[in-house]
Amino acid sequence: MTVAFTDLGRKYALHQNEYEEAALEALRSGWYILGSALQTFEREFANYIGTDYCIGVGCGQDALTLAVRALGIGPDHEVIVAGNTYIATVFGITENGANPVFVDCNEYFQIDEKLIETAITPRTRAVLLTNLYGQSANLTAIRAICDSYNLALIEDCAQSHGSTFDGHMSGTMGDISCFSFYPTKPLGAFGDGGACVTDNDELANRLRLLRNYGSRVKYENEICGANSRLDEVQAALLSVGLRHIDGDTQLRLFVASRYLDEIKSNHVKLPQTHPKSTNVYHIFPLLVEERDSFIEHMNSRGIQTQVHYPIPPHRAKCFQGKGYSELHLPLTEQYASSIVSLPIYSGMPDCDVTAVIEAVNHY
Ligand SMILES: *Cc1c(COP(=O)(O)O)cnc(C)c1O
Repeated sequence: MTVAFTDLGRKYALHQNEYEEAALEALRSGWYILGSALQTFEREFANYIGTDYCIGVGCGQDALTLAVRALGIGPDHEVIVAGNTYIATVFGITENGANPVFVDCNEYFQIDEKLIETAITPRTRAVLLTNLYGQSANLTAIRAICDSYNLALIEDCAQSHGSTFDGHMSGTMGDISCFSFYPTKPLGAFGDGGACVTDNDELANRLRLLRNYGSRVKYENEICGANSRLDEVQAALLSVGLRHIDGDTQLRLFVASRYLDEIKSNHVKLPQTHPKSTNVYHIFPLLVEERDSFIEHMNSRGIQTQVHYPIPPHRAKCFQGKGYSELHLPLTEQYASSIVSLPIYSGMPDCDVTAVIEAVNHY
């Protein structure tokens, strides 16, 4: 028996007929880039998150890179970023020639808001927070810090579609907030996709230019821009996914609640959610001291696990020689060596959940 870490085929099967109808309609429309399916999805997604504007782009990485660029951040500027995040967050900064300033995380795996103020320098232009694993960082506290120091706030919401902090939807507190629609994400396309959301019409306009060669009118290039557009077929498929996002999230919440209730082991530590945050459980991380032996044990029972993430960005090979070798982020580094993710996805069969629970309890 194998318990898959994730199974996109099962996720697809949840709404197969609707996906296929939407894809066919988009394919038969004769219009594939920057058309009505994108406009519709952008309106629906902005509505769902609760922002005025949504700008569909090619992927989550592009959303981050273009958000930093739209805010005018570049060489000589610093951006405060979580040490505990997927490296794409950091590339959003470095791709613009700006410098990431890493701060450690808290026991909820989120950027530790108490450490942000000491990281601020005269060069700081923004805080780029990540709402990691499906819950939200302390959005209200970090927004207040940004306001008092006149810094922009960018949210990386690539894992937090639908999560809230103190009633605020993740994606509504950033000057610009960035989403990924990579297939496994809480709202997933069937290929790459991403979006920026904002309430600021000037930033929205700049993002629309940046994603399309800096051009509003064909062959009139007002600024230097990229080619990063969410295509019509993906947009149409995402509109279907968005109709079902809350129901699909409930399916993961049910898996998570079984894990939280039924895993009884002194050898693993279950994840905690901040009391003011809701969690959409993009990932279900455990902390295990001897991770290798745990993974081997799960493998021997046919259960796949993954590690999010084994190497924190400040220890990544690509940043060697950039001055981070002396930097020590105790919790981030501790989690990198002891965290392991259990299978969780919308459409995961109940018998697989039971098998995971039994395997963990037998470790
Ligand atoms: C997935 C992810 C990204 C990048 O999104 P892509 O669509 O894969 O480019 C960025 N940040 C975080 C936290 C992610 O999980």
